[in-house]
Amino acid sequence: MVSHKKFTIATVGSHSALQILKGAKDEGFKTIAICLKGREKPYKSYNVADEIITIDSYKDLMDVQPYLLKKNAIFIPHASLIEYLGLEKVEKFQIPYYGNKKILKYESDRRIERKWLRKAGLKVPKIFENPKDIDRPVIVKFHGAKGGKGYFLAKTERDFKQKMKPHHGDGDYVIQEYIVGVPMFIHYFHSPLNNELEVMGFDKRYESNVDSLGRISARDQIALPKVDPSYVIVGNVPIVVRESFLPKIFEMGENVVKESRGMTTRGLWGPFCLETIMTPEQEIIVFEISARIVAGTNPYVDGSPYTALRYKEPMSTGRRIAREIKQAIKKNQLKKILG
Ligand code: ATP
Repeated sequence: MVSHKKFTIATVGSHSALQILKGAKDEGFKTIAICLKGREKPYKSYNVADEIITIDSYKDLMDVQPYLLKKNAIFIPHASLIEYLGLEKVEKFQIPYYGNKKILKYESDRRIERKWLRKAGLKVPKIFENPKDIDRPVIVKFHGAKGGKGYFLAKTERDFKQKMKPHHGDGDYVIQEYIVGVPMFIHYFHSPLNNELEVMGFDKRYESNVDSLGRISARDQIALPKVDPSYVIVGNVPIVVRESFLPKIFEMGENVVKESRGMTTRGLWGPFCLETIMTPEQEIIVFEISARIVAGTNPYVDGSPYTALRYKEPMSTGRRIAREIKQAIKKNQLKKILG
């Protein structure tokens, strides 16, 4: 039997790399962090990487491949990899890749993603194809995971046109119904080895400036020159949900996985996240899916209140990935989890 100790877990030094690498070490793997020049410090200081490879630009990742292959590396993707390298290059990546690459194009295209969520029976915000039809508050989102930069709220066509002016020439956006409620990001993990879905935890994002607008009274907001809400992510805050929501939350995740199998032969597996708003009517509206580890799992390096229920040891999502790889190696089923 091949020992998992012969393998190395590699990831890009950013996003959720600290917990991915720590989790891999806890499971007995060797680890490599690939860092942009000048960004090595956290990976050294927290001692999560057995080796640090420094590159000048994310494009250079492609050149590191022969070395990673020699090291028997398995690559763990996260949002930074996809954002900086681009979908096409990720698809061409030669290193054994944890997760299904084919699913990436479904989550990166808002229209396809929406179809997927609806087919899974989830509630999604209404989309306005034509600004003329705006009849309620909307959030206007520009393409690309830019941390909500440039998003704006509007309530009429006129308001929309006015706020679009600085975005002249940028046609790649979506006008989405603005859901009033509280954001809740649900972290799931699906294992194709035992065909089981786990709920790993929840978070909400801490976004600038929207999360501090409540600290400025309405009177002062009006007096200030310009306070449009923005959604630039700064960090993540843990949440524990009302226990009575859990059956629904499991069902939602299971339906998303089931539906993904109709889109690509092997569907979705590993960590994923449903980004939702919970309304006062207790409806869960899903505005996005991330088909990979999300940074919202970072508060749980030592496990979440939910993983504490299931596991005897601290189980972060990063460690859960490593454990899955370890089990797949043991069962000689690595092919089932690489994509
Ligand atoms: P990504 O998750 O790919 O990083 P992003 O950060 O660019 O995406 P979104 O996650 O789509 O952008 O939205 C940013 C923030 O805007 C969310 O955290 C949430 O607070 C708010 N938001 C998004 N869509 C809606 C909606 N339909 N109604 C109310 N608030 C929303």
